[in-house]
Amino acid sequence: MKRCVIIGSGLGGLSTGVILAREGYDVTILEQEAQIGGCLQCFKRHGIKFETGMHFIGSARKGQTLNRLLRYLEIDDVALSELDRQAYDIVRLGADEFRFPNGAEAFIDQMSTYFPHERDGIADYMRCVERVANASSLHTLSLENADSAISNEYQLRSINEVIDSHVSDPLLRNVLVGNLPLYAARRDKTPFSTHAFIVDFYNQSSFRVVDGSDHIGFALLRKLGQYGGRVLTRQQVVKINSDGARVTGVSTASGDSYPADIVVSAIHPVPTLAMTDSSLIRPAFRRRMASLPNTIGIFSVYLEFKSETVPYMNNNYYAYPAGLSPWDSEAYTAEDWPRGYLYMHFCHDSYPRYAQGGVILSYMRFDEMAPWLGTTVGHRGDDYERFKHQHAERLLDAVEVAFPGLRNNIQQYYTSTPLTYLNYTGTPEGSAYGVARDITLGVSCHVPQRTKLPGLYLTGQNINSHGILGVLVGTVVTCSDLLGTEHIYRQIIKANQ
Ligand SMILES: Cc1cc2nc3c(=O)[nH]c(=O)nc-3n(C[C@H](O)[C@H](O)[C@H](O)COP(=O)(O)OP(=O)(O)OC[C@H]3O[C@@H](n4cnc5c(N)ncnc54)[C@H](O)[C@@H]3O)c2cc1C
Repeated sequence: MKRCVIIGSGLGGLSTGVILAREGYDVTILEQEAQIGGCLQCFKRHGIKFETGMHFIGSARKGQTLNRLLRYLEIDDVALSELDRQAYDIVRLGADEFRFPNGAEAFIDQMSTYFPHERDGIADYMRCVERVANASSLHTLSLENADSAISNEYQLRSINEVIDSHVSDPLLRNVLVGNLPLYAARRDKTPFSTHAFIVDFYNQSSFRVVDGSDHIGFALLRKLGQYGGRVLTRQQVVKINSDGARVTGVSTASGDSYPADIVVSAIHPVPTLAMTDSSLIRPAFRRRMASLPNTIGIFSVYLEFKSETVPYMNNNYYAYPAGLSPWDSEAYTAEDWPRGYLYMHFCHDSYPRYAQGGVILSYMRFDEMAPWLGTTVGHRGDDYERFKHQHAERLLDAVEVAFPGLRNNIQQYYTSTPLTYLNYTGTPEGSAYGVARDITLGVSCHVPQRTKLPGLYLTGQNINSHGILGVLVGTVVTCSDLLGTEHIYRQIIKANQ
């Protein structure tokens, strides 16, 4: 029985733990926080649960990619509630709203009602999205379908360049990237493949997790326990130990040591590499990882509604002020923030009539956090509280343009900044989605699942991509390295028979 220590109990660490424990590894996951789950964590105020980093998931209908992975992980019994099939996403640009229905044909038809002169271009764009998503064997979970030529091409072409090649109406071009905050895309930088995977993922089907995304974490924890693994909380790993030839275990801030044959780090590569001084990891690799750009952070306002005042909104609502595009929202100034937001309600049961709570998300750069670097949660000072209050009020002003009177229904609100995420997940710069994909950097922004220090592996959102599917695909990649690709794929097929 090989001993495996996993650093971090986010989705990446937990799912890797379940697979390795089921395959006979003796798995211990070490988590620095008191709660497991990383971005799957929720918090409760006055009995209302708030999700912090997983608000909706896609492709979860039977037979679709995420559903197949959830079955493979034996957690497909987590209760889900489907978003409005006619409008899982609503994009508002200025005063105009555009609804995104599930299904490629429905999407083409709906967009064509707004832009009849662009029908052919919209259809070509949607076919391109499907072609790129289906070209990746990782996203279809089938070894046979891979078309690496298409995958490679669209990993090197930007989202805006490809969309512009299909449609010419400037408004339509903006509508098609209306859900861009889901992947924090940058103009001329983010590969079209990132956009295609996410559009295809949610276009197939979209769901919220009933009673909060932490149920995904709890389900994985239960499965891990069934296979003999464990999570130890309040155990911050500070050192990855090695003997000159391979990894030997880890040490924690509390002075405990955990010997291991395999260490899988499910956290960002930069803090991972800072924990080992092994000369087997070359300085050039360390420099390359340290220079990778991170995605922007998020400012969140969590809304606690007065009882039975706000009808549950079964959609995700993205809005941008008149004259602004979803692109370049990260380049806001002190005067024009927020340049866009995403507003959602939490789903506390399968058929909710009223929302108990909601969340508004908007970009926030880490440089804004400079005055409070080094401070800890609850002790950042009055000026930090003032900063958060002012930003929450500005965000509420922006949301009230589309939802007049919303403030009257708010009992109380709570806020978080990129510093909060830095504290609770350890992700550098409080980045929302970890390492950013950037076509101008080519393959150098690739984070490998295996390091040059034998026995040290990486997993989590930085390996393949972020989000529930991106992270679970990263888990498959890392576990394939340990267990064999064909073995994993056979197991996925078996679990879905
Ligand atoms: C605001 C926001 C909204 C999002 N919304 C969605 C959504 O709706 N749908 C979706 O699919 N995705 C969404 N995502 C993305 C998704 O949540 C993440 O990509 C995914 O959960 C990341 O999982 P992970 O395991 O890689 O990392 P994390 O969740 O960050 O987990 C890392 C864990 O490692 C622990 N850790 C760090 N350092 C150490 C250490 N030294 N020792 C021990 N433990 C350590 C942390 O405490 C944490 O628990 C969202 C993200 C954000 C920020």
